[in-house]
Amino acid sequence: MTFNKKISISIIIPCYNEADNIAICHKQIDKQLSPTGKDYECIFVDDGSTDNTLTEIKKLCTLAPNVKYVSFSRNFGHQKALRAGLDMAQGEAVITMDADLQHPASLLPEMLSRWNEGYEVVNTRRTEATETNLFKRSTSALFYRLLNFLTDMEIHPGTADFRLTDRKVTNLLCKCRENDLFLRGMVSWCGFRQTTIQYQAANRHAGKTKYSLRRMIELALDGITSFTIRPLRLAILLSVIFILLSMAETGYVCYVAFFTDQSVSGWASLAILISVLGAMTLLMLGIIGEYVGRTFIQGKQRPLYVVRETNILS
Ligand code: UDP
Ligand code: MG
Repeated sequence: MTFNKKISISIIIPCYNEADNIAICHKQIDKQLSPTGKDYECIFVDDGSTDNTLTEIKKLCTLAPNVKYVSFSRNFGHQKALRAGLDMAQGEAVITMDADLQHPASLLPEMLSRWNEGYEVVNTRRTEATETNLFKRSTSALFYRLLNFLTDMEIHPGTADFRLTDRKVTNLLCKCRENDLFLRGMVSWCGFRQTTIQYQAANRHAGKTKYSLRRMIELALDGITSFTIRPLRLAILLSVIFILLSMAETGYVCYVAFFTDQSVSGWASLAILISVLGAMTLLMLGIIGEYVGRTFIQGKQRPLYVVRETNILS
């Protein structure tokens, strides 16, 4: 008779062209977790890498039996890679972290001890890496302010996808079938007992960042549209403003027409009014289009990611 040994900890590491980081990343995790004596698994999710990432992961699998991998058919993005890891993880505590060593493995024992204290979510918050440029820092701060304002959520700038979730929370996350994943928002939405640890982010070990400006904007849009419909209410606010403006304009026109002997002039103000109204209408159409488009994509119910190969038995 065989018994499935219960795995205590799952570490999920999404990798997109991280060949030079795989071995050292695993080494650092092992250095922290081996002394705890806990049974743990390391799940590397190869997000359609075009370099030797998968070869490196497979090499590691032959050396360490607790290393597992999932390889996507193409690049599906960081959030989907994390989601695949959450789906496959068996641990009672599931930790997601980056492959580039920016998320220090030395924080793992502290995260586990908070989990042992009874916290179901252990978030982390970075104080900036020296190489993070001013532009990235300020756009990120601006985005979180906007998101918190629009959604009443409380996500701090510097919150990345380096966190521990208990099995209960992991199961809940896996039940959410949304296409536009914004995991840090979903975790905040889950509730449960949450705590945050601060850490000094390190610089990327090898390779370069995969989060271009375009990807950051996409993630920001995913975050906003999947957590709030407040932008749609902007139309109501705008209509109130324009009703007030049109009342003032009507009053002015009536006054000039009935109480003075001048004719009502002002094609310039008319032109401004038409272009402002046109711009506002197009803005609202764009916002509505964004939500409709996302509903359309969600309606198709395609799988979130496609696995090409894995060594995890389902
Ligand atoms: N990543 C991924 N798929 C992508 C982009 C990134 O799996 O399409 C992984 C990447 O390999 C890394 C993590 O997500 O382990 C975070 O990416 P990155 O370090 O480029 O982001 P940054 O730290 O610069 O925000
Ligand atoms: Mg990074």
